[in-house]
Amino acid sequence: MPELETVIGLEVHAQMSTKTKMFCNCDNDAFGKKPNTTVCPICMGHPGTLPVPNGEAINKAIKTSLAIKGTINEDNHFDRKHYFYPDLPPGFQISQYDFPLSSGGSVDYTIRDASGQVIKEGVCGITRLHMENDAGKLTHRGAMTLCDYNRAGTPLMEIVTEPDLRSSDEAVAFAQELRRILIAMDASDADMFKGMMRFDASISLREKGTEKLNPRSEIKNLNSFKALEKALKYEEGRLRKEWDKDGGPLPNDITVGWLDDEEKTKVLRDKETADDYRYFPEPDIPPLKFTKKDIEDIRKELPPLPQERKQEYMELGLDEAQSVQLIDQPELQKIFDAVYEKTKDAKRTSGLILTQLVGFLRAEEKEAPDAGDMVQLVEKIEDGTISANAGKDVLEKMVKTGKSASEIIEAEGMQQISDDGAIEELVQKAIDANPEAIESYKNGKEAALGAIVGWVMKESKGQANPAKVNEILKKKLK
Ligand code: ZN
Ligand code: MN
Repeated sequence: MPELETVIGLEVHAQMSTKTKMFCNCDNDAFGKKPNTTVCPICMGHPGTLPVPNGEAINKAIKTSLAIKGTINEDNHFDRKHYFYPDLPPGFQISQYDFPLSSGGSVDYTIRDASGQVIKEGVCGITRLHMENDAGKLTHRGAMTLCDYNRAGTPLMEIVTEPDLRSSDEAVAFAQELRRILIAMDASDADMFKGMMRFDASISLREKGTEKLNPRSEIKNLNSFKALEKALKYEEGRLRKEWDKDGGPLPNDITVGWLDDEEKTKVLRDKETADDYRYFPEPDIPPLKFTKKDIEDIRKELPPLPQERKQEYMELGLDEAQSVQLIDQPELQKIFDAVYEKTKDAKRTSGLILTQLVGFLRAEEKEAPDAGDMVQLVEKIEDGTISANAGKDVLEKMVKTGKSASEIIEAEGMQQISDDGAIEELVQKAIDANPEAIESYKNGKEAALGAIVGWVMKESKGQANPAKVNEILKKKLK
């Protein structure tokens, strides 16, 4: 048997984070909204309506293209890609065919083992990035199919790679790095749970040392890294068995679906070709033109790449895993950045965010509070309203209830007692109640002081400011 090599290329669809949809003014944030409430005649494809390209989406797609080292094409056209399906009311998708937004580029990726050790560094070439709009969503219930068009018209970037990946591990490591780039460019929230990033993976085999690409199997619509990994592993094994049986590669391209529950692929059909879609220029949208200056102006505003951000976090003193956690989880990163901005103390910030907050989020399975709420909590600790200890309780309650720090402190009466008069009163009470401790302190037993401070803390239900209690107690005993 000849030694075989696996050849993988990906097509990635990323939903863009824009205020409105790709060609109309509908709200682009349809998640959790009532079906068919964020729609209009344009995204429903009514005849006679005119699509208008979304400038914010174009700007973010250009940033992404530049971040993956693509070349922006100065001439850009939109095309109609035709197919009939109930999730696509106009009967065509507005996409880009022979004049895409950008061509070429590459993404560097790193494969690590569970302990974070680098196993392999690789580069995956990018073929193109183009813009298009998404279809609606179908839900099948028995013999009935429900159509929700809220997602119809959502801006998408489709990113196509070269067949440069040689294993499922490489494909996943590449896809994860691409996701970080989308997030860093603020081009997509790339929330896998909400299906904002989806993969079609093409896989074929060839004899090692040969260059020719054999017919491929295209696995459609994988929407998690786990599914991408499992589907590629499964299909690779299946193609190897077929090769053994038939003595060679697939006779022609095929399209397969991934059955998540059964953990196997299923052949759907021979793969469709461009001819099947009858692409033609979208007559309602004039070609877009970008000058070199337009592109350079956008390049100047490019945010730092995820690997640069990771480096910055490591320079602040975070370890590799913590830094990766931040560039992988945009909501945590926003909170971390805002709190660090306030405290300028990376160790304290990571303790609060990556240990306490992440712990509570895991335990409660809730969403993270707003960055603003977290900053407010830190302010309450810094200005002495609550102790750092009480801060932990407040944070837990913030996660559980979704309320702000000040609401919780107010409602639960958790304010720290820092008022001199109130503390003096408490300290006097402690002295009166603990004559033996006072006696032994006066006889030189320093540790006895701790017992008295402890009594005050207990009496005040942990709300007395311990530093103040110490200070006033010492003064009184002199
Ligand atoms: Zn609309
Ligand atoms: Mn597409």
